[in-house]
Amino acid sequence: MLDRFGRRFIAGPALERALVLVREDNLLGVYGILNYLGEHTKDVKEVDAAIAQYVEAIQEIKRRQLDAQLSVKLTQLGLLISEEICTKSLSKVLQEAQKANVFVWIDIESSVYTTPSLVIYSNLVQQYNGLGITLQAMLARTEVDLNNLLLNKGTVRLVKGAYKEKKELLVGDRGVVRENYRKLLQKLFEGGGRFAVATHDDILIQQAIALSEEYEAEPEFQLLLGVREGLQMRLAADGYRVGEYIPYGRQWFPYFRRRVREKKTNALLALKDFFMYRHERLTRL
Ligand code: FAD
Repeated sequence: MLDRFGRRFIAGPALERALVLVREDNLLGVYGILNYLGEHTKDVKEVDAAIAQYVEAIQEIKRRQLDAQLSVKLTQLGLLISEEICTKSLSKVLQEAQKANVFVWIDIESSVYTTPSLVIYSNLVQQYNGLGITLQAMLARTEVDLNNLLLNKGTVRLVKGAYKEKKELLVGDRGVVRENYRKLLQKLFEGGGRFAVATHDDILIQQAIALSEEYEAEPEFQLLLGVREGLQMRLAADGYRVGEYIPYGRQWFPYFRRRVREKKTNALLALKDFFMYRHERLTRL
């Protein structure tokens, strides 16, 4: 079913097809960001299975000499069981990643997990410098979180935020989120370290390019598989460093639901793909 239904946004159930997409990306000058789908597990066996998946992905990235990174969700790595188990699980992934020189991003989930995610990041980044964390411009707390991370030279991926949150936690409506994103972006440029601009929003991408000229910095863009691939190609063709987030695995539904929440017509596109058994990305090369 996944082979056909969610194929526009999700590589497929198995690592192999995700690696094929990374290879395609690399040929076009784009790096891949592999995410093994899964979240909110309370089962230690599932946590161990996720660790094993990431270790295999790292080994394959190395063996095939791919330009690829990983992105992990902490509730997949045991955060619902305990912070300690989650820290140990992520450490296992990071040990392997460090050996293979593969960068790892922490995805940020709903705001309930923001504080523990930041704590785990701060603890582990001291040992593993190939680690970055995502921050959500939609949340009112993010400016303070970003200031703290910048003080400690953290590596940040900035997104708008994909989770449903209580109104009082938000900076405001869509326009205000964009303004806040712009403000946070400026701080990132001022900070001078590495960071990723993870949005498909033309206005913000233009602002990031303008800021990069002002600060004489190289912006790094990240986009999601199946979303605005023309934009992704244009950015890569213009010489910017671009990454594509490539999820794979069987637990596709929560991820797919977030993509539909962002854009309702994605449900129709997935249905069309299902019946036509076609994936536009395959025509890119
Ligand atoms: P929008 O205003 O939503 O969109 C801008 C433009 O892109 C519009 O034209 C819109 O039509 C188009 N577009 C946006 N989304 C879609 C879509 N799904 N399908 C088709 N067109 C679309 N969120 C988190 O909360 N935590 C994370 O850890 C996280 N990691 C991410 C990692 C990467 C690499 C990226 C790119 C996004 C990540 N997100 C994450 C999702 C992010 O928070 C937004 O929900 C998502 O990127 C859509 O917001 P936008 O900034 O693209 O702006």
